[in-house]
Amino acid sequence: MLYTTIQQAAPALRDAMTAARHILVTSHINPDGDAVGSSIGLTRILRAMGCRVTMVLPTDLPSLAVVLPDAPEVGVYSQGASLPADVDLVVLVDTGSISRIEPIFSAERAYLAQRPLLVIDHHATNSGEGFLNLVMTEAAATCEILGLLAQAWNQAIDAETATALLMGLVTDTQSFQTSHTSPRTLRVAADLLALGGRLNEVMRSMMYGKPFAHAKALGMAIERMHDEGDIIWTEFTQAMQQGTGADDEAGDEITAYLSRVATAKAYVLFKERRDGTVKISMRSQPGIDVGSVAHNLGGGGHREAAGATLQMGLAEARELVLSTLRSALA
Ligand code: AMP
Ligand code: MN
Ligand code: MN
Repeated sequence: MLYTTIQQAAPALRDAMTAARHILVTSHINPDGDAVGSSIGLTRILRAMGCRVTMVLPTDLPSLAVVLPDAPEVGVYSQGASLPADVDLVVLVDTGSISRIEPIFSAERAYLAQRPLLVIDHHATNSGEGFLNLVMTEAAATCEILGLLAQAWNQAIDAETATALLMGLVTDTQSFQTSHTSPRTLRVAADLLALGGRLNEVMRSMMYGKPFAHAKALGMAIERMHDEGDIIWTEFTQAMQQGTGADDEAGDEITAYLSRVATAKAYVLFKERRDGTVKISMRSQPGIDVGSVAHNLGGGGHREAAGATLQMGLAEARELVLSTLRSALA
């Protein structure tokens, strides 16, 4: 079942979750603020409703999660560790496809196949793999959907839950800058602020909590920026990552910076991974669709912010992505 409105989805989702004995909440690999905020926010809402919930994320939490007191409770999956056996419902948040919870997806195929999946997400490329899916592509963040769900359930939200949900709203909209920031987004955020959500701490953690290494990495990536008219791109190589000590998260900084240059239509960051694959992050000017380009490359995302992982080296990835993007923009 695919729901696209809160009104339709709220009763079915509440029934499914309150009927479960033990719920596993998870989200995508390299979780961002919306993945962490929605995992923790939903868990807190469900617990307040009397549900038993365990959170496990596929890989380490982003550093901005330090402002959430529940962050240390989130399990980070490690190969060979077992997921709770008595879980009878898996809830996937902020994730377009279950394959995006790698390495859990490959290591726990049987576990996942044996349990019903419920999906709450806002990606246009969501593949609707749950038995219940709430996919609201107009929502700026999964946390926006959760704020609305709690309202529909008449479920009170405390200050910590509000802070977690604000984290998703603030990060996915880059502080309410992106074009999918709607009046509703701001209303949900205002409500969360009124409930005691620590908006300013979330903002500060996102904007002013960067490690020194990120600034160095950003400088190197800006130095390597290429201007090809419609496309501006740069790269974040393993050498740059090792030379600066910057981790994956520095890539977000670089992507955000690229898309500040007004002259291009689309922006690409090529991030070389340790395993020899390349992660691309694409952004675009309002109205320009890079989501379908990412989808064609085996990835996904939103119209104006999308990504993919390519099983090839940097040079090959550059060739493929830039030519695909050029034809899409032409
Ligand atoms: P990023 O460039 O990593 O910030 O991602 C931008 C958007 O694209 C996010 O909504 C991601 O969830 C989505 N995305 C990134 N990489 C992938 C991928 N390999 N497959 C599907 N969606 C992706
Ligand atoms: Mn996300
Ligand atoms: Mn999101």
